[in-house]
Amino acid sequence: MEKHDCVIIGTGPAGYTAAIYAARADLNPIIYTGLEPGGQLTTTNEVENFPGYPQGITGPAMMEELRQQAERFGTDIRFGMVTKTELSKIPGEYHKLTIDDSTEVLAKSVIIATGASAKYLGLESEKKMMGHGVSACAVCDGFFYKGKDVVVVGGGDTAAEEATYLAKLCPKVTLLVRRDQMRASQIMQQRVENTENIEILWNTETVEVLGDKTVSGVRVRNNQTGEEQDIPAEGFFVAIGHKPNTDIFKGQIDMDDTGYIITKPGTASTNLPGVFATGDAQDKIYRQAITAAGTGCMGALEAERYLQEHEEMVES
Ligand code: NDP
Repeated sequence: MEKHDCVIIGTGPAGYTAAIYAARADLNPIIYTGLEPGGQLTTTNEVENFPGYPQGITGPAMMEELRQQAERFGTDIRFGMVTKTELSKIPGEYHKLTIDDSTEVLAKSVIIATGASAKYLGLESEKKMMGHGVSACAVCDGFFYKGKDVVVVGGGDTAAEEATYLAKLCPKVTLLVRRDQMRASQIMQQRVENTENIEILWNTETVEVLGDKTVSGVRVRNNQTGEEQDIPAEGFFVAIGHKPNTDIFKGQIDMDDTGYIITKPGTASTNLPGVFATGDAQDKIYRQAITAAGTGCMGALEAERYLQEHEEMVES
């Protein structure tokens, strides 16, 4: 069985940044790409808020540059999915990872960078218009809708935050809430209600995203009266939550009740020795490429320190 000092799971900004640091520290990292190499950023268009790109860069191009940078220092990038893990609780003991249900590898340290996935409604029209008016990130894409009317769907803190963020850029924001109340915290709800250009449509569900090549509106239905109406809009923001991609670690590592891995405050350390969690797999607040990259760096530096402290490994 192959044995490695450092295995990184996931190739978003957190994973690649961890790889750059780990490779430069001679940890000879192996990184497994998962099913979506490049992560969530490969589904966005322009990234304008990552420092160092004054003209902006497309998500896929940025991830390609990160990949090249990780490779330049000798990261072994492998196309494969980690399908099972046996993470050890004993300091200095190997962790076992199964790749694509077939190959097993042992790792002295593991950096989890599996990210999260935005939840979508699952409508065909929503899928068709992804990146052409449909987005799951107002901070990433809101700027492109400056001066245009938009619709936000959701009733939690994310939806409240996205609606108020967009209300600063857009003349009108329509918020679709499927019940007669929001799930968001009181303060966030008040913020939404006090924003003049946000209209809340209660008990309202999305029937279809309208438009040919780009979004032109949203057909909605009141689930109490059955009444349908078309709302003109150029942007459709889905804010119904994210799901961290952490199912394979369930029962092995401390997580909160929504599946986010718990790290010790100010670190990437988990409750398991030699296992570090970075990026959106452990962050439900910020979820930005730059914060993911920052925690990726932390994970690699902590892995390096851990490996120095546990040069002699124990066979499990
Ligand atoms: P939540 O799970 O809290 O809320 C999801 C919302 O989307 C709910 O209102 C839910 O409705 C609605 N929803 C779910 N599925 C559908 C659907 N198919 N159609 C229409 N609406 C749907 O997710 P969030 O992302 O808002 O928040 C996740 C966590 O992150 C929370 O703990 C939140 O507090 C936290 N957070 C904190 C922030 C902060 O502190 N600044 C910012 C953002 C998030 P229903 O209520 O009917 O189930």
